[in-house]
Amino acid sequence: MTSAAILHRLSTLRLERASLLELAADPFDEARPRQVYGAVVSRVKPSPVSAPALLAYSGELAASLGLHVDDVADADAMAQVFAGNRLLPGSEPFSTCYGGHQFGQWAGQLGDGRAISLGVLKDRQGVWQELQLKGAGRTAYSRHADGRAVLRSSLREYLCSEAMHHLGVPTTRALCLVATGEAVARDMFYDGRSRAEPGAVVTRVAPSFLRFGHYEIFAARGELDVLRQLVDHTLRKHYPSLGKPSRDTYLAWFAEVCRRTAHLVAEWWRVGFVHGVMNTDNLSILGLTIDYGPYGWLDGFDLGFTPNTTDSGGRYSFGNQAQIAGWNLSCLAQALLPLVQDVPALEAALDEYRTSFELAFLHVVRSKLGLADTGEPEADIARFSALVACFSSAETDMTLFFRLLGQVAQASPGVEAALTMLNPAFYATPSVQARAGWADWLAGWLQAISAPDAGRVARMNAANPWIIPRNWLAQTAIQAAEQGDTSTLTRLMAAIRNPYAEDPAFAEFAQRRPDWARNAPGCSALSCSS
Ligand code: AMP
Ligand code: MG
Repeated sequence: MTSAAILHRLSTLRLERASLLELAADPFDEARPRQVYGAVVSRVKPSPVSAPALLAYSGELAASLGLHVDDVADADAMAQVFAGNRLLPGSEPFSTCYGGHQFGQWAGQLGDGRAISLGVLKDRQGVWQELQLKGAGRTAYSRHADGRAVLRSSLREYLCSEAMHHLGVPTTRALCLVATGEAVARDMFYDGRSRAEPGAVVTRVAPSFLRFGHYEIFAARGELDVLRQLVDHTLRKHYPSLGKPSRDTYLAWFAEVCRRTAHLVAEWWRVGFVHGVMNTDNLSILGLTIDYGPYGWLDGFDLGFTPNTTDSGGRYSFGNQAQIAGWNLSCLAQALLPLVQDVPALEAALDEYRTSFELAFLHVVRSKLGLADTGEPEADIARFSALVACFSSAETDMTLFFRLLGQVAQASPGVEAALTMLNPAFYATPSVQARAGWADWLAGWLQAISAPDAGRVARMNAANPWIIPRNWLAQTAIQAAEQGDTSTLTRLMAAIRNPYAEDPAFAEFAQRRPDWARNAPGCSALSCSS
């Protein structure tokens, strides 16, 4: 049988009931926003929209879910199903209850205010995947909001989830993007000027959308039975190799979450990703990048960069992400304390987070710089810190710089020639003093990589992407899509499928941020309004 033969048309696709529905459930199934006590899930149906239209879908993700899409009829059916207008057979939709620490403060109940899970489906690797609509209407957790999402933020989530996957960074995926045909009112910069924007729904796919905040809410409310149910469920379904739920496995699980989170944040470092809102409700229990809101990518390397205008103190800036992830893990530890009742053991796991991050970060540094493991981690980290100092002396495009550094490693030129090769990465010509600093750093680095190493350049090119979905690229795709033209999005999606390959057909996307985008809304300045 060919692989195409086992693909199902959407009309024959069936979902299974998510096992989360076996846990404590809200007895009321109305979408009226309220506090929901003692329940992990609330049943809710998506609210239909007037004119759903499929804007984009990820073909290979569809195929990995056993879904065959190839013609206009499929597109219409997909639009109906993934806008929430038509439920697939077997679908039992629901939203979940979670809380969270937002900007360092406990915020109480948040929950899936506009995320509705449809059910689960086994992918072709045998992994159960949950399908979730974002923007499909109000739920019990919508608080004062409308349960909808705008096209600009939905397109950003769709694009970035898929880009992250292809970059090799753990992430939730996005199956498709559907326009609702309805307008949504948003005050993008919280300045009292609300405007009508096109609405959209993005379909997310992941083995689980559980966040740290799911555990925090039950601990905060003293609902320890529900907390234990949820932890045991997480262990059984998502960490079965750790063994049967017990105090020891709870600890082993927390340590594993620490390790996965460390790996994730190091990976964000590798590709220059700034999440933008690392509240505890936006951190995945599986160590995935989740909840793409006012995220951004470093154009010029800047530890203090955050695109989120709501974060004036820079709590979630690029250089703070590792520390904040540690802080968020300590909130999770606090939530698990009633089950584990062992502060030193949880603290030991948190220490392991720091050690894991240091190791993962060292690996990132070495691979980005093409350094072999010489058994001198301090020297390698010091070399990287010196490079960061150079970056702050002359605005330097992170992605272009590291990619060009691979070419320098290949050519092995003298210092001056190396600087000339790196020139396209600078946003402005470095001052004489900055140039001297660069020359110094390059001399040391060229010396460090002088030993022959056949795999070096390939390792560097595998760690240093050629294309990332920079904010200004997403913004260009958004502006066109808002005018009904999805061709830029389609091309961008094709380009990000192969982010490490230098395909001349996509050279327009492998460019420094243009001047118009330096301070433009949607490029360097984004709010949480979405
Ligand atoms: P976020 O900033 O997207 O992580 O969302 C924080 C919380 O607000 C979550 O509980 C969301 O579900 C909820 N939320 C955000 N936007 C909306 C909306 N338009 N309608 C309902 N709930 C929302
Ligand atoms: Mg969130």
